[in-house]
Amino acid sequence: MNVLIVDALAANEGRRKFSRDAIGAGPRLVAGVFEKYKLNVRIKRVEDFIEENDEGVNSSDLFLISAMSVDKVAVQKAIKKISKKQQNSKIILGGPILSEKDLTKEIQFDVGVIGEGERIIEGLIRCDFDFSFFQEQKSADRFSIEKKNGSLLVKEKSILGTGIFEEFIPSTERILDYPDYWFSKVYVELVRGCSNHYRGELVKTAGGCSGCGECDDPDTIITGDCPENIPAGCGFCSVSATFGPPRSKKLNQVEKEVEDLLSKGVRRIVLSAPGFLDYFRGRKKEEVYSPTKPEANYAEIANLLQSLSEIRDNQEEVCSISIENVKPSLVTKKIANLIGKSLPKTSISIGCETFDTSLSNKIGRPSEPNTALEASRFFFDEGLSTQIYLIHSLPGETVKSLEITKEVVENKLSNFADKITVYRYLSLPGSPFTVTGVPLPTKRHLLDIRRNELKKAIIQFNLEKKKKMIGDEVITIIAEKDKVRKNTFIGYPIFSGPAISVYSEKPIIGNTYRIKVIGVISDKLLEGEISI
Ligand code: SF4
Repeated sequence: MNVLIVDALAANEGRRKFSRDAIGAGPRLVAGVFEKYKLNVRIKRVEDFIEENDEGVNSSDLFLISAMSVDKVAVQKAIKKISKKQQNSKIILGGPILSEKDLTKEIQFDVGVIGEGERIIEGLIRCDFDFSFFQEQKSADRFSIEKKNGSLLVKEKSILGTGIFEEFIPSTERILDYPDYWFSKVYVELVRGCSNHYRGELVKTAGGCSGCGECDDPDTIITGDCPENIPAGCGFCSVSATFGPPRSKKLNQVEKEVEDLLSKGVRRIVLSAPGFLDYFRGRKKEEVYSPTKPEANYAEIANLLQSLSEIRDNQEEVCSISIENVKPSLVTKKIANLIGKSLPKTSISIGCETFDTSLSNKIGRPSEPNTALEASRFFFDEGLSTQIYLIHSLPGETVKSLEITKEVVENKLSNFADKITVYRYLSLPGSPFTVTGVPLPTKRHLLDIRRNELKKAIIQFNLEKKKKMIGDEVITIIAEKDKVRKNTFIGYPIFSGPAISVYSEKPIIGNTYRIKVIGVISDKLLEGEISI
């Protein structure tokens, strides 16, 4: 059997416009399940699969596609190509795209794996992908199985335990299938699941909260269960509902995966976790549902960071290890100091969504905006590059909440953050907002005006921050030709920071240089020159 995993994550209509230098952890994880059974597996980016010759499709007889909700068009194009060339092949779809149950009306596939997929795929491997496996009693006992419009939708009945990380090891070999692995940020799963099992006022009202008290206070949540089946977590996010409380990968496994990837030529590793500070939080074997109590496990985090920084420093080439994001509710001065010492110059993302305290509480954030500001200041004081994430058009948003957020962006963030990223709210299938049907803000011209003002303030903030980088020297790996400017190349800083356009009449792709920032091309791109 020849298996091809098609990585469509963030490809949207078929080609990534954003996060072009990122490689997610999911496809390597799936490849690892096949490697465990010594099967021939490869990974291909969806754009290469769609646009290149037919080698990928002709030489495979089983296709697994990994995608998010925004990647429907890319998935449709990939499936069209498979159906045209390999009519008898089987197609398995997985990833966040599957949280949308009506998907089967738009996309035809054989099996859709919802949520955690390792054991489902393993079951299919063991029966040689004979789908009658799902009619057996043992499958019915373990999985919930639904047939919709000719596709089977399969989901684990219960969240997999911590042993899952030892049972299935992500492939490190298949990183070489990505042509851009040597300059990309390669994500290594560290924690699965989220500790925010609080519910905000908006979903409590819409979902018919009966006032059992379980999630009244983020500090005291014990089980995360709700008698009314209202999903837990931030209203816009489906991680808590899909993956349950956090489970952490053991240090020796993280070390091995990071070492293997670096030995293959990866230069930038990102430790992937819905909340880095959930790493082994709480007493051993006890699940944590509170986003605030107990505090982060300082000893485990210190061990992890010390070991990984030693691995990083033993590499011949300059490499970086960074953290994806943290929950502000768990950030302390001590933690910021530890991260600053072990991962200097790393960037850290802090989700804040809004600076309006009232809206923040209503949408189910585990802490108030002031806590996010304080966390950002702790990191900033340690010389780390802090990025704040905001969302506009959220349910519950008001003219006032947009004005408050803009005011903070303009007048308070400059000393605490290096970058602000704002997204438009997108209803995610499986999220508390979507499941309970919390309505969107009523359409109002004034809301649109305030949103545009906020977006402009953020662009201005990011531009000003980039201007302050002029004169800095940044270790940068030259990744590709700049498609817009002649004789210029795009480089990515090894540690953190925006992409840099570098002029050179000689080919320099693949080289690492100390680049001096000499200008700002846009709020996302700097101009630099090679320092002698
Ligand atoms: S667990 Fe459910 S019923 Fe209990 S307080 Fe929370 S939302 Fe209300």
